[in-house]
Amino acid sequence: MTAANSVTWVRCPVCSSLDDKVVDSRQADDGGAIRRRRECLGCGRRFTTFERIEEAPLVVVKRSGEREPFELVKLVSGIAAAAKNRLTEEQVDAIGAEIEEEARLAGPEITTQAIGIAVLDRLRASDHVSYLRYASVYKGFEDLTDFEREVGLLAKSTPPKRH
Ligand SMILES: [Zn+2]
Repeated sequence: MTAANSVTWVRCPVCSSLDDKVVDSRQADDGGAIRRRRECLGCGRRFTTFERIEEAPLVVVKRSGEREPFELVKLVSGIAAAAKNRLTEEQVDAIGAEIEEEARLAGPEITTQAIGIAVLDRLRASDHVSYLRYASVYKGFEDLTDFEREVGLLAKSTPPKRH
């Protein structure tokens, strides 16, 4: 058994043998699990296992220090609200997916601040109106001067780096 290979040891329900061969594998639960048909090499009995695919959990650290599981739906709905009538659903989903991927690579923890900045970076690059709407919520704009300051910054900002 190599460390790189995760091997699942399954005990035969009939004879308790650990030797079996997989005779069939298919995705189950929309790809969240693998259903395996196995045949015991000890007694020949066939049985089925379900193996859950565990994603490393991504945790969001809030300003208060409170932690909660990352929810893509929540992130996307926040972006969608700011991008209403400005960006397509596909664009919004793509931004959400990109941020989630980056967060998972950097994880297992990400701050709400880092998420907010990642969203703002992408909106600034794709649509200034959505950017300002998101910034108004994220940065807690209180009056027009907040907007004017942000618009001023937008006008001065150099195009963001793309990779
Ligand atoms: Zn057996």
